[in-house]
Amino acid sequence: MPSVLVVGGGIAGLWTAVRAAEAGCTVELVTKTELAEGSTRYAQGGIAAALFPDDSAERHYADTIAAGAGLADPAVVRVLCEEGPARVRDLIRFGVGFDRDESGLERGLEAAHSRARIVHAGGDATGAAIEAALVATVRRRTVAVHERTMLLDLLVEGGGVVGAVLLDADGAVVERRADHVVLATGGAGQLYLHTTNPAVATGDGVAAAARAGAAVADLEFVQFHPTALAVPGTPLISEAVRGEGAVLRDASGRRFLAEAHPLAELAPRDVVARAVWRTMAEQGGAPALLHATALGGDVLARRFPGLDRIVRDAGFDWSREPIPVTPAAHYAMGGIVVDLDARTTLPNLFAVGECARTGVHGANRLASNSLLEAAVFAERAARALLAAPTVPTPVPTSPESPDVDRSRARREAGRAMDRGALRTLMWDAAGLERSAAGLEAAASVLAGWRAPEVGDRASAEDRNLLELARRTVAAALARRESVGAHCRTDEPATQIPPAPYEEAA
Ligand SMILES: Cc1cc2nc3c(=O)[nH]c(=O)nc-3n(C[C@H](O)[C@H](O)[C@H](O)COP(=O)(O)OP(=O)(O)OC[C@H]3O[C@@H](n4cnc5c(N)ncnc54)[C@H](O)[C@@H]3O)c2cc1C
Repeated sequence: MPSVLVVGGGIAGLWTAVRAAEAGCTVELVTKTELAEGSTRYAQGGIAAALFPDDSAERHYADTIAAGAGLADPAVVRVLCEEGPARVRDLIRFGVGFDRDESGLERGLEAAHSRARIVHAGGDATGAAIEAALVATVRRRTVAVHERTMLLDLLVEGGGVVGAVLLDADGAVVERRADHVVLATGGAGQLYLHTTNPAVATGDGVAAAARAGAAVADLEFVQFHPTALAVPGTPLISEAVRGEGAVLRDASGRRFLAEAHPLAELAPRDVVARAVWRTMAEQGGAPALLHATALGGDVLARRFPGLDRIVRDAGFDWSREPIPVTPAAHYAMGGIVVDLDARTTLPNLFAVGECARTGVHGANRLASNSLLEAAVFAERAARALLAAPTVPTPVPTSPESPDVDRSRARREAGRAMDRGALRTLMWDAAGLERSAAGLEAAASVLAGWRAPEVGDRASAEDRNLLELARRTVAAALARRESVGAHCRTDEPATQIPPAPYEEAA
């Protein structure tokens, strides 16, 4: 049976490791810090799937296609929606205790879903419940787990991936060979000044795959969540709070989303995020206000116990007063290009979870589809891993664009990059609204920065952030339209087909 090296300990990596080990593969899993640390454990709202009698895979499909702004891949969305319910039932078998009421699984409604189909655990602690169940399961399987072990680069021979270069827990650089490598390294929210993502989300897998010659795509599609609490660390205030009835108002009390979209607070995420962003700009940068008072203290505490704690710790009593919110970078729709079985364009290299670009989200992810995507495609990856590795034969890898080559040449002579400056630059120039002038100026600044010599985790992350920032800015410049999460103030909005929302619950 093939040997498999899995990089990442979130839902995508753990799921792949568990299933590959069950199938008889020899599995090693490495994670950058502690096994449980990553975006998965912070997921609040839940996981979307057509599990209820008033719902169907077809309806979930239609909602996902509509949110994707014309760019979601129909074949991939169909797989997601049809296989999704079985994966949620697998999660229950793995030990996730989803919340229940007298009718069975309790369910929530989130933006741009035409049915309440989001199942959750611990109220707003779905990700923590999933992570805990999968960590416990992986510990019971024959998976060799190495914590505090960081992927630096992929080992490529004869055009195929044969392993990885790692920074181990003692700070030594080591090579690890495997028949297949699975990247499950999560997102890259740390590219931006404000993000809901944890510190490990520095896009390492995408940067390493790109350096190795794998195709990456859609990096310009970064989802900004509309409602992060406007305090240091910008913790997420789940969309499920708006699903339960909370509304957004400006400083004067105007409910600005009611004017912007028929679905108001439950419009697609990009619409809500930009409305919040523009409202903040109109009021001199002051945060928008999320009013959840109508839900009452009891509901807030019972349905959202984790958020209730976060909000109260920040000094707000949201049962009595509105809370200040701001958009923050939340999710990477783009990443490493994969097929329906999570195969990248490089032989023996797979990618699953947020680091992969399956095409399922198009230009805008539908809320609570990302945990589902990770589960569905990790399951498919685990099956595909059973195939014998491809004997590497030289294949042409996509040559880097002249721009990237030029910027690399300049980087050698440039000044050392500063992570804080990079994050501010990305927020200002490649954030919720972009323009050619701003992006060109950012590209030139980024080209003048030199990546650090890789010696430790921080310098390796900085190298990856610089690589991804350059690629993201280049992709945002190249896409000369406004579509989904990619809003160019100097380019017209692309017309997309109307969404089938009239039956919204
Ligand atoms: C606050 C928050 C709330 C969210 N809420 C929801 C929700 O309600 N529903 C939903 O569907 N989605 C939600 N999302 C998105 C969802 O949680 C993520 O997309 C998903 O968990 C990603 O899973 P993953 O396994 O791909 O990555 P992660 O869970 O981020 O795991 C990545 C793993 O890779 C490791 N890693 C990274 N780089 C390296 C490296 N170089 N070497 C070794 N290991 C590395 C990390 O340490 C980590 O173990 C939320 C995200 C956030 C941040």
